[in-house]
Amino acid sequence: MNLSIRKAAVIGSGIMGSQIAAHLANVGIQTLLLDIVPKELTEEEAKKGLTLEHPSVRSRFSASAIKKLAKIKPAPLYDEAFASRITPGNLEDDLAKIAEVDWIIEVVVENLDVKRSLLKQIEQHRGPGAVVSSNTSGISINAMAAECGEEFRKHFLGTHFFNPPRYMKLLEIIPGNDTDPELVTAMKVFCEKVLGKGVVLAKDTPNFIGNRIGTYGLLVTLQEMQKNGGYTVEEVDAVTGPAMGRPKSATFRTLDLVGLDTFVHVADNVYHNVTDEQEKAVFCTPEVLKSMTERKWLGEKTGQGFYLKKKGEKGSEILSLNLATMEYVPQTKPKGASLEAAKTAKGTKEKTKALLAGKDRYSELAWNILKQVLIYSAEKVGEISDSIREIDDAMKWGFSWDLGPFETWDAIGLVRSTQRMEAEGLNVPQWVKDWIAAGNTSFYKNESGKLYSVHISTTQYKEVEHVPEAISLRSLKEQNKTIKGNSGASLIDLGDGVACLEFHSPNNAIGADILSMIQQSVEEVRSNYLGMVIANQGKNFCVGANIMLLLMEAQDEEWDEIDDIIRMFQSTMYKVKRLEKPVVAAPHRMCLGGGVEACMPADQVIAAAETYYGLVEVGVGLIPAGGGCKEFALRASQSQPGADADLQPFINRVFETVGTAKVSGSGHDAKRLGYLRPTDRVVTNQDYSIYEAKQAVLGLSKGYEPIPEEKIRVVGAEGKAVMQLGAIGMRQGGYISDHDLLIAKKLAHVLAGGDVPAGTLVTEQYMLDLEREAFLSLCGEPKTQARMQHMLTKGKALRN
Ligand code: NAD
Repeated sequence: MNLSIRKAAVIGSGIMGSQIAAHLANVGIQTLLLDIVPKELTEEEAKKGLTLEHPSVRSRFSASAIKKLAKIKPAPLYDEAFASRITPGNLEDDLAKIAEVDWIIEVVVENLDVKRSLLKQIEQHRGPGAVVSSNTSGISINAMAAECGEEFRKHFLGTHFFNPPRYMKLLEIIPGNDTDPELVTAMKVFCEKVLGKGVVLAKDTPNFIGNRIGTYGLLVTLQEMQKNGGYTVEEVDAVTGPAMGRPKSATFRTLDLVGLDTFVHVADNVYHNVTDEQEKAVFCTPEVLKSMTERKWLGEKTGQGFYLKKKGEKGSEILSLNLATMEYVPQTKPKGASLEAAKTAKGTKEKTKALLAGKDRYSELAWNILKQVLIYSAEKVGEISDSIREIDDAMKWGFSWDLGPFETWDAIGLVRSTQRMEAEGLNVPQWVKDWIAAGNTSFYKNESGKLYSVHISTTQYKEVEHVPEAISLRSLKEQNKTIKGNSGASLIDLGDGVACLEFHSPNNAIGADILSMIQQSVEEVRSNYLGMVIANQGKNFCVGANIMLLLMEAQDEEWDEIDDIIRMFQSTMYKVKRLEKPVVAAPHRMCLGGGVEACMPADQVIAAAETYYGLVEVGVGLIPAGGGCKEFALRASQSQPGADADLQPFINRVFETVGTAKVSGSGHDAKRLGYLRPTDRVVTNQDYSIYEAKQAVLGLSKGYEPIPEEKIRVVGAEGKAVMQLGAIGMRQGGYISDHDLLIAKKLAHVLAGGDVPAGTLVTEQYMLDLEREAFLSLCGEPKTQARMQHMLTKGKALRN
């Protein structure tokens, strides 16, 4: 089945509905957003003399939800302009319009009766073949559609987005008993490819996968912390956060963010819908949560929950709740050998092992929580999902765990930890015992680049389904596809004559090792490959050049050394640009400073939708000198051909973007800001970007003509004066500091091509020399060094 979804309708414009509509708009789907008709006028509407019959009042809920999108943080839209793809409406006047859409998503209040009656209304109006889905967090999909006809049920399923829908990778697809299996497959492909989601197939059981395991984990944590003399809220968070590969918000900051009422509601749903007494007992709302809910200590939304921010004499302080006395008290920093060991260990596997290997109370708490979550997950495979993989993926993509429960179990040693559980009298599910008895030592195994996981019904290893578009560099390296490599980067064979240059230094910051590998890769690709992709699968593509080294050289006044570093950077990028084979860069997440300059020489950039891209050098008191200014001057010159064309508006825009270190909020936004060219592209699913880049290289390689060296027409002294005047105005207005002005003047000088007359044609090397001189002179400025120091120690820009 080939699904074509061009138009959609989202019903319910609350927190989730409005942001799901935004995400559909992000990927170009025209979306109708409907909600109920208000029963009362707002003050403002009354003042304007409007009545409840006025169309703007009747569609107010959805119209104001669309307006609000621009204010929500993190931004639900890739580009604010995409809001125009969403049309507001209401359920009474506009429901018939859903006849024209391909997909209708129900996102109204979590109430079976409301959802049931809405689905019956949808059934009357939907067009033939239209897909209908519900975003319920845990209500039965079968129950919801029980009163609808068979044709409807064939096209109905659960699509459970996680909050916030743009950013959370997890999307649970829940087929009903009658959902067409072909539709399920087609929706999975659509949601992965077009919406960029990580899809797991869940069974129609209370709370599906993520929220079932997730709530269990939180409830068990609450139980365990009250045993053995009790643990403080901050102690629990110290154990259940990064120490075991979980987000910093750990247990209680997460609960405060989610809201206790919502959490209790979700847990209740399991409590009321399961029959096993032991399981019921865990999901029964604990006293402490009841008491907090009664007091309206619901977390962030009511200003206090497990934590309370209080203004004191020494500024604001975050107090934590003492669960025994129900009083907020100052936090005490948890200190323990196992926590320390976890902190210093590298990677989640080692951290978790270090935490559990300790002999202190933190180690004990970690084990007591973990063992129950692992066993519960093993008990639920088969009931909530077909395989262990869905549970692991759901916890990673929906709860930001580094490792899912089964991956964690493997990491801590399946056999040993299971023995420990049994020795402690726990009931390990039979299939796990059988699996181990058959001689297996892990749930997953990697063999010749393929991933296998236990198949519980046959107790055999089964290959984990793998989309060919999701190229894994790690797996290629395991298959010995590394062509060459050093400590900072590697060149990997992607097959079909395409090589991939991967950065893998700390934070993927560019240093001499990466530059050297780029140069070697250029030589290798020139002789033996059709072209090259520049991409990696690190957390961020590249945070910029390594400024630590730069700062040290500047403090030692080693100007020749700095001059050499810049020359090497520039000549490396120049070589990439002049390579006789196509190069496609595929940045993702943070791509800053030198990272952007590493993408600029590529023939094409294929950015992930979640790319935060910018030349941010002024933040550390510098200007781009790895070819960034030169490339922008060249683009200005190319975009306005003809000796008399006016380059100034283009270059002014660049001056503003680079001068204020603007960073894009998405790949699309990078286009809007002018960092990406019209020929550059954006891919929604980051997992597919290397594949897309590879295809682009293959496409370009047919009849490829290397980019010729070109003279650059510059705005010269006059243009420089225009830019500098703007900067002086900013200084006089008090918007920028003296040092900002100094940097801005240097930037203007370089972008303008120096003091030559307007319209002069200059060489690329001339521009690179200007970049280098300006950069070097800024390195000597104490305030620039202070900015670099601040960035290195505090991780943010200093405005001095
Ligand atoms: P919300 O309260 O923010 O929005 C609910 C919307 O439903 C409102 O716009 C309301 O006007 C509308 N509505 C109320 N009564 C209605 C009726 N009788 N008919 C039609 N519309 C009606 O809720 P939300 O957080 O956006 O949740 C919506 C759905 O998404 C729920 O099923 C919820 O369980 C699920 N969900 C929520 C989250 C989350 O984090 N908030 C996450 C995943 C799934």
